[in-house]
Amino acid sequence: MNPDTDTSAPTVQEKAAAARQPASRSAAPASQPATQAETCPTQPIPLRKELIDNLPYAAMILLGTAVFLAGLDHALWRWLLAGLYFAYGLAGAIWVMAFVCPYCHFYDTRLCPCGYGRISPKFGTKKPDKSFAKQFKKHIPVIVPLWIIPPIAGGILLYLEFSIALLILLGVFILNSFVILPQVSKRYGCAHCPQKDECPWMTRSRLFAKRQAATDD
Ligand code: SF4
Repeated sequence: MNPDTDTSAPTVQEKAAAARQPASRSAAPASQPATQAETCPTQPIPLRKELIDNLPYAAMILLGTAVFLAGLDHALWRWLLAGLYFAYGLAGAIWVMAFVCPYCHFYDTRLCPCGYGRISPKFGTKKPDKSFAKQFKKHIPVIVPLWIIPPIAGGILLYLEFSIALLILLGVFILNSFVILPQVSKRYGCAHCPQKDECPWMTRSRLFAKRQAATDD
């Protein structure tokens, strides 16, 4: 059947409105106003894409955990520090869902690229969207040490006792966390976000890109 001639097929606005229905009620009929729908992506994010968007963060936590497992000899310290880092990684994701996502347009919808938006209602109630940038700046520093701890700890462990396995792990951690993860976020996850103009992360990226372009000229 040609979708262009199928009058029963949902319109783009209807699909967008359906996707913006609370994720917990995604089977409900579309009823959002078209003006609101027009500011957001038009399709619910499939589970496969949500999983892809989460892969670099999951890889960072697993690689960071592996740095402690590979770099420490003492069994107690090895498992204690690896476990603490792993738990911090899980807590960091929950922290974002509890304290950042409730201020996002994508809260309780299926439009969030990484799926946090539809889990967020389990951790916090909806807050005003206009505070998003302030909340983002306030809470993102809570998870920044996840990027910093493994390179510092791994560097110290390498200095104390060189190991090629640990060196490779650290290299892969740095490549994933500082190159792949931000690129996946910017090009895939955040690229279509309606809040990218207010988001400090994206604003800084654009300023950096402009500065680069000016330098290249
Ligand atoms: S786009 Fe970001 S802030 Fe918005 S719901 Fe998804 S993870 Fe949370």
